[in-house]
Amino acid sequence: MAKHTVTLIEGDGIGPEVARAAVQVIEALGVAVTWEKVLVGQLAREKTGKLLPDGTLDSIAKNKVALKAPITTPIGEGYPSINVGIRQRLDLYSCVRPVKSIPGVKALYTDIDLVIIRENTEDLYAGKEHEVIPGVIESLKIITEKASTRIAEFAFRYALRNGRKKVTAIHKANIMKLSDGLFLECARAVAKRYPNIKYTEMIVDNTCLQLVAEPHQFDMLLTSNLYGDIISDLAAGLVGGIGVVPGANIGSEAAVFEAVHGSWPEAAGKNIANPAAMMLTAVMMLRHIGEGSAADRMEAAIFNVFRKGQVRTQDLGGKASTTEFTQEVIRNL
Ligand code: NAD
Repeated sequence: MAKHTVTLIEGDGIGPEVARAAVQVIEALGVAVTWEKVLVGQLAREKTGKLLPDGTLDSIAKNKVALKAPITTPIGEGYPSINVGIRQRLDLYSCVRPVKSIPGVKALYTDIDLVIIRENTEDLYAGKEHEVIPGVIESLKIITEKASTRIAEFAFRYALRNGRKKVTAIHKANIMKLSDGLFLECARAVAKRYPNIKYTEMIVDNTCLQLVAEPHQFDMLLTSNLYGDIISDLAAGLVGGIGVVPGANIGSEAAVFEAVHGSWPEAAGKNIANPAAMMLTAVMMLRHIGEGSAADRMEAAIFNVFRKGQVRTQDLGGKASTTEFTQEVIRNL
């Protein structure tokens, strides 16, 4: 019997291609994983009548760990985001996104090493909108003391455990004095309990400028949901794009590992997506389930392929397909 059972969400768009790539590398490593494939989205609706079936959530809750490829969310119409639904229903309150330069990957900067910790359950991102009267829409930005305190706690604990020195809270409390003000108040209160970790604050628009101009000043960024979403893509752009940046959604009961990038529907089935982000996400997952040495081997193989520079996908200036890159990583294990 396999040592680990992991829920697998293949997603849509480029999802199935990058998920397959990550699974193939884990299988080549010989890690004993039973993949419990579950349905979400349109296919799930056809079979069960629900976009996010209870069985899918039950599987993640039971296995406590999932590897998830991206899922398309209709823009400006249609159903609410399934991604947000999974994070909220399983209370995966912390989104962890390490943004690190990889030798061999051409990028704006080659020596970036920062971690974004994003609150994952509330804020404007929760999509709580309604029409007040025709022509007037209200979108609710919910910030609570409970969620803000626990994400700040998570960030400082992460800093301690991972030898990080500084946490910068990102906000717009000059304008949203109550909501972002509360977020900051909670971060400050938590920071006081961690005197060995430096604590600073920065307004979100200045953060965007500083990330582009002087990114080395950052170590860890602590943000609410929407700013974290935007800053993650910006930060990915510093190290080679969203094709190479992994991520995880972690709660107290379960963790869902998913890359920063979306489902890139235009590229679906074309075998051109860079699977590295999904593979590095799988590396984070392997560490989480106690397979540290397999994770190290997988990461080293991916980095080796980048360092050699012969097999690169289109986003990094190469010609390799998703499957060619995957085979090259397997050869380098
Ligand atoms: P996207 O990340 O899918 O694509 C934006 C651009 O990034 C693409 O045009 C492509 O140039 C590049 N890109 C993305 N993934 C790549 C990869 N693996 N390799 C190389 N290049 C890659 O973002 P979008 O176009 O804003 O969103 C498309 C859909 O994805 C939307 O429906 C959105 O809701 C969804 N989405 C899902 C998730 C998730 O499931 N976690 C996250 C973000 C977006």
